Amino acid sequence: MATRERRYVIIGNGAAGTTCAETLRKLDPSCEITLLTDEPYPLYNRVALPRYLKGVVREERVFMRTKEQHEEKGIRLLTGVVAEKVDADGHTVLLQDGRELPYDALLVASGGRANKLECPGAECCRTVFNFQTMDDTRNIIAEATAGKHAVVIGGGFISYELTDGFAERGLHTTWLMRGPRFLRRTLDEEGGAIVDALARDCGVEVCHGEEAETIIPKNGTVGRVRTTSGREIEADLVGVGVGLTLNVDFLEGTGVEIRKGIVTDKYLRTSVPDIYAAGDVAEFYDVAVESYNIMGTWDNALAQGRTVGVNMAGGSEVYHEVPTYTSTLFKSNIAVMGVTQDNRPDLESLTRADHDERQYKKLFFKGDRLVGAVTIGSPRGRKRMLALMHSGEPIEGPKEAVFDIR
Ligand SMILES: Cc1cc2nc3c(=O)[nH]c(=O)nc-3n(C[C@H](O)[C@H](O)[C@H](O)COP(=O)(O)OP(=O)(O)OC[C@H]3O[C@@H](n4cnc5c(N)ncnc54)[C@H](O)[C@@H]3O)c2cc1C
Repeated sequence: MATRERRYVIIGNGAAGTTCAETLRKLDPSCEITLLTDEPYPLYNRVALPRYLKGVVREERVFMRTKEQHEEKGIRLLTGVVAEKVDADGHTVLLQDGRELPYDALLVASGGRANKLECPGAECCRTVFNFQTMDDTRNIIAEATAGKHAVVIGGGFISYELTDGFAERGLHTTWLMRGPRFLRRTLDEEGGAIVDALARDCGVEVCHGEEAETIIPKNGTVGRVRTTSGREIEADLVGVGVGLTLNVDFLEGTGVEIRKGIVTDKYLRTSVPDIYAAGDVAEFYDVAVESYNIMGTWDNALAQGRTVGVNMAGGSEVYHEVPTYTSTLFKSNIAVMGVTQDNRPDLESLTRADHDERQYKKLFFKGDRLVGAVTIGSPRGRKRMLALMHSGEPIEGPKEAVFDIR
C-alpha cells in the first residue's frame, strides 16, 4: 500500500510560522504544508513597521515573502482565513469558511492581537489606533499626515514605538503612562528616568500616573483626551499600546494547556500529542533558567520556528536560545536580553546608571549565573553578556565585574 505524505498545518504566518514551514520543506521535500493567516499578506517584518511609520523605509521593504515564493517551495499559503476550531482527536483544523484541514502535526504560531482602548468615546473615533499590523500602520500614516497633536497611552514597547513615530513625524506628542515608568517591572527608577529624559530630548511630553478617562470626539476623529487628573490634552490621533491578548480561542476544548501562553516543553510540544506552539503565543520551557518563559521578540519567533520545524519532522531538538529584544529608544537604543524580573521577580539584580550620559545597565542573576540584562545606550559588552547567559558559566569574583565586560 502506498504511504501518504505527512500533512502539516500551521496557524499563523508570522516569523515563527513561516520559518517553521520553510524548515519543514527543507527536511521533507514531499510533505504537504498549509500555512494560514487571517491577514491578507504573506510574511512581513513587524519590527520594520515603526521605521515605515516614521517614513524611513518604504512599504515594499517591509514585506519579506511573496505568494509566488511560497508556491515555488510548495507551501500552500491561505490568506484571509480564520482558524475557528481545532479538533484534536480528529486531527483537523476547522476554518470559519467551513473548510476542514486534516493534519498529522499542527503548529500554533498565532501570536496576539492588540488590546483596544477601553475608554468612553474611543469607539466612535476613527483616529484611535493600535499598532500591530501592516493595516494599522497604513491607517495611522494616512491620518498622521494631516495631524498636529498626538497622545499615546501605555508603558511598553508598542507605546514607545508610537510615541517615537509620532514625534519623528513632527506631531506634538504626549505620552501617558499609568505606571511610574516605561517597562515598569524590568527597569527601576533610574532606568525610567533615563527613558523619560531621552523622550523629552526629542520634544515628547511624558506624564506618569495618568490614564485617559474620556476621548472627546471631533467630527468622527479625536479632538481632545481628558485624563484621570482632569487635564484635557489636544489630540488629532491617539496611539494605544496596552498589551496583547494571545490568539488561542480556537483551542478551546482541545485539552491544550494554556496559562499566560500555550504551555510547551523544551521541544515546543504542547500537552496534546501532535500539537506544537512557537513564537509570541508559546510559554515555553526555558532550559537556561529551568522555568517557563514567554518572550515576544522577533528573534525568538524565528529561532522557535526553526526548532519546532525540526521537531515536527521527527527530530528532538531542545530550544535553547537567549531571547533578545533590541530596539531604538528615541535617539538611543535598548536591548532586553534573557530573563528579567518581569517574568522572574525572584531574580537578584544590579544596576549601574549615568543619567547625564543617558547610559544604563541592569543585570539579572540566578545564583552565580547571569541570566538576563537590560542595556540603554552603548551596546558595548552585549555580545559577551549573551555568550555568558547562553553558556550558563558561573560568575567568578564580584558580580559587578560584568558591568565592565567589553
Ligand atoms: C510595531 C511592532 C514593533 C516591534 N518591534 C520589535 C523589535 O524592535 N524587536 C523585537 O524583537 N520584536 C519586536 N516586535 C515583536 C515581534 O514583531 C513579534 O515578537 C513577532 O513578530 C512575533 O511573531 P509570531 O510569528 O510569533 O506571531 P505574529 O507575527 O503575531 O503572527 C501571528 C499571525 O497569526 C495570525 N492569526 C492569529 N489567529 C489566527 C486565526 N485564528 N486564524 C488565522 N490566522 C490567525 C495573526 O493575524 C498573525 O498574522 C514588534 C512588534 C510590533 C507589532
